[in-house]
Amino acid sequence: MSLDESELPRTEDEWRVRLSPEEYRVLREHGTERPWTGEYVDTKTPGMYHCRACGARLYPSDTKFDSHCGWPSFDDALPGAVKEIEDRSLGMVRTEIRCARCDSHLGHVFRGEGFTPKDTRHCVNSVSIRLEPNET
Ligand SMILES: [Zn+2]
Repeated sequence: MSLDESELPRTEDEWRVRLSPEEYRVLREHGTERPWTGEYVDTKTPGMYHCRACGARLYPSDTKFDSHCGWPSFDDALPGAVKEIEDRSLGMVRTEIRCARCDSHLGHVFRGEGFTPKDTRHCVNSVSIRLEPNET
């Protein structure tokens, strides 16, 4: 499922009917799913992770790694697929990541933790993404 630019919802009401309540809360209201509850926390299946809101390709499964933080973690996104926004909520300065195509919330990005050679952790809500497994 990938929406053409012209098919993207324009209002929050249009998003609300398209998404489940939990998807809407995370993707459109910048919510966070509880750690260890998301369906992709431990997933190792090869494939491509797409934006659950618009279907844009975001993360190849080979960028996913075990961060033991309770959310799916990736050390890189496809070029231009994800945009970064400074987030000063909750008294912290973090970097929010959103789908560059539909502006839906994915999670936050952290750097300098040393998990992988790229030294980057995209901490993404499972409910923000959908895995399309490779054809076998
Ligand atoms: Zn999207």
